[in-house]
Amino acid sequence: MYAKVIVGLNQPEMDKLFDYRIPEGMAVEIGVRVIVPFGSRNKKAEGYVISLSEKTEVPADKIKELLEVLDEGRPTFTPALLDLAEWMKERYFCTLNQCLQAIMPPGIRTKSSWTVSRKSLDAETKLTPKETALLALFGERREIPLEEVQAEFGGDCLTFLRKAEGKGLLALKQELHRSEYKNEKRLYSLDRDHPLLEAAWKKAEKEKRLEGQRLLLEYLANGREATAAELKEALGITDSPIKTLLKKGILRERRQTERRNVFDADTVERTQPFTPTAEQAAALSALHRELEQEEKKPVLLHGVTGSGKTEIYMQIIAEVLARGEQAIVLVPEIALTPLLAERFVSRFGDAVSVTHSRLSMGERVDQWKKARDGEISVVIGARSALFLPFPKVGAIIMDEAHENSYVSDITPKYDTKDVAAALAKRYGALFLMGTATPDFISYYKAKQGEFLLLELKERTGGGVLPRMLVTDMRKELAEGNRSAFGRALQAEIRRNLEKGEQTMLFLNRRGYATFVSCRSCGHVMKCPECDLTYTYHAKEHALACHYCGRRAPLPKVCPVCGSKYIRYFGTGTQKIEEEAGKLFPEARILRMDLDTTLTKHSHEKILAAFAAGEADILIGTQMIAKGHDYPNVTLVGIMAADLSLNADSFTAAETGFRLMLQAAGRAGRRDDRGRVFLQTYQPQHYAVQYAAKQDYEGFYEEEMLMRQMMGYPPFSAFFSILLTGAAQEEAAQAAQELAERLAQADEEEIATILGPTALPKFRGEYRYQIIVKAAEEEPLRQLVLPTAERMKKERNRNVRVGLALNPTNIV
Ligand code: ADP
Ligand code: ZN
Ligand code: ZN
Repeated sequence: MYAKVIVGLNQPEMDKLFDYRIPEGMAVEIGVRVIVPFGSRNKKAEGYVISLSEKTEVPADKIKELLEVLDEGRPTFTPALLDLAEWMKERYFCTLNQCLQAIMPPGIRTKSSWTVSRKSLDAETKLTPKETALLALFGERREIPLEEVQAEFGGDCLTFLRKAEGKGLLALKQELHRSEYKNEKRLYSLDRDHPLLEAAWKKAEKEKRLEGQRLLLEYLANGREATAAELKEALGITDSPIKTLLKKGILRERRQTERRNVFDADTVERTQPFTPTAEQAAALSALHRELEQEEKKPVLLHGVTGSGKTEIYMQIIAEVLARGEQAIVLVPEIALTPLLAERFVSRFGDAVSVTHSRLSMGERVDQWKKARDGEISVVIGARSALFLPFPKVGAIIMDEAHENSYVSDITPKYDTKDVAAALAKRYGALFLMGTATPDFISYYKAKQGEFLLLELKERTGGGVLPRMLVTDMRKELAEGNRSAFGRALQAEIRRNLEKGEQTMLFLNRRGYATFVSCRSCGHVMKCPECDLTYTYHAKEHALACHYCGRRAPLPKVCPVCGSKYIRYFGTGTQKIEEEAGKLFPEARILRMDLDTTLTKHSHEKILAAFAAGEADILIGTQMIAKGHDYPNVTLVGIMAADLSLNADSFTAAETGFRLMLQAAGRAGRRDDRGRVFLQTYQPQHYAVQYAAKQDYEGFYEEEMLMRQMMGYPPFSAFFSILLTGAAQEEAAQAAQELAERLAQADEEEIATILGPTALPKFRGEYRYQIIVKAAEEEPLRQLVLPTAERMKKERNRNVRVGLALNPTNIV
């Protein structure tokens, strides 16, 4: 038997498997970690077994044998997850290494260390003073560690080194080491039968300098066990007495692996399932039917907030658990939904685990092991919860499925929705997406029959929709109101303050890019070619289309109405807060945005304070659209609907519309007091019009017509290819070359190639973008992938090539 092994996960760009013979009697499962001889000098290296086979192409005298199986032969990757990694590799145009890194258990990480090696120089090479100093640092040596350079030139010297590398002065080399988190506690106790104990006691009692030892002996005399941290804390001692007594053998050390519970299930009151409403019952029976199918379709559950989606999730999970299977519940940001997690715990007790970004490494490792060993069967968490090694997942549920945070921002830049669907298929599990405002690509797929569409139209407890009122900010301006608060909104806030009711003010920043518009007529500067909002580039004082790359000077007067009142848009929550403070001096105001929520638990604290009525007005970004239910909020102000309507993406209108609807969902859920103000310079914009009517369906129809007309997804597919490098010329050249090669490879002329476009520098690197668009995805992949792949290999490290298919944020 032979094993295909991926050696050393630490080289993300490497994409090769190596064959090894499995020695007689060695038990090897797929997914286990192994030690193999590697390279011409047969250095020992670590790897993972990806597959097993009875044949190999490697000649018998060349094939090497596996040396050892690690982790007591327990696989690191389950077959389902390995298979998923292979799928991700194809789908996201990256290496298997990168995919395995993404699904790697917590606590196993590769750390990197850099070395800088000197190259011999041409006498002609001109050096800057800094470079001269750098070469002096080498002295006689050929190689120095990066830390040494950092100590001399400051922490952030990689850019400088990259430049020097480009000039041929030196070479940078990155090496990676694997480090594993050991989740164990060391407990110390006294060996009470130790022959030296008596003597040690007597000595410690006599000598003042051995006070620490005396305290320690006394403390542990009754057979107690404690960790070093506990001992130091309780006795005020240092490590030294512990070490001394340990060396003598008087202290014993015991290592204990421990698994903690993230949630204390005992403190949560248990609840029983509700009798489903008629709508819920219909949805549930459709879901039961789907669960019974061999081949399951993904399900889109479209239901307004409060329509009982979470109750449906829980009833489905109960069914899955009864079959002895597990369930994964994905949420966009657990910090904003503490109550949601609690609801699951209240139903399923300590079968539930919650993962979130603030867990310690130890807690994460625990969870991973608990999932593997069947100690938990429901997990609620962010997208990484997908990669827990459950034996047999029966359902994957994705709440708030429209959220942008489901898209990973590091390579592989996967969309959780696609990965979850692919994984569900591998487990034979049900994949259920729930949302009040489905993204239109999913909604389109559902309407086309690719997904099963289930709808909940009513709130379980009844309730009415709030009144939506549009404020034309152009008119406010024309009539002399320069404030960010329209006059009607001001009056309503005053009324709320008098009546003791609460107000929420939204300022959407998602997908926000600086755009330019006319404050007199509301006209927004757009690319005439793509109909996407131009982005304002401050440095060049010019407009740029982030799709096709077209540039335009900033107009002096509005091309539509001739007004000189052209401004680039930008207002922050802080400014709104200041102004609110002046307009309503008696109001208690809270603000929640990235600045006020940097510290732990600050989200929850602000939201809880507001829910408890400790403030009259809450000002925030879309962060405040989720989480608690606020019965006393009767007024919502959307301060500048334009901000998200004019993002530089083909999904701008959709995103803006969805945010307006979500914000509106915050006002008056129970009675008819709810009012929502939509403040905008574009009251005629179709997204504003449909939002005012709360007409999801109508907006969807119109938006789809627009997309079809403009040829945007789902009616087309496009790749955004990003080339990034420290050396400008090289990056630019590579981009140009790639665009040309793509054009050449496109013999049948199926594609439109836009760019390369220079994007603003990011983290000190130059970036160029190419957009390749075609009517259908598959031929487009066939065209782009091999060509980009080749470029990637040729340019290697100097220019990185990143690919994204139909990204909603183009840049
Ligand atoms: P969503 O997830 O769609 O926002 P929830 O499942 O949270 O909706 O339901 C909204 C409220 O209605 C919750 O307080 C929930 O406990 C309650 N609820 C859900 N289903 C029922 C039901 N069948 N009968 C009575 N109350 C229900
Ligand atoms: Zn104008
Ligand atoms: Zn354009």
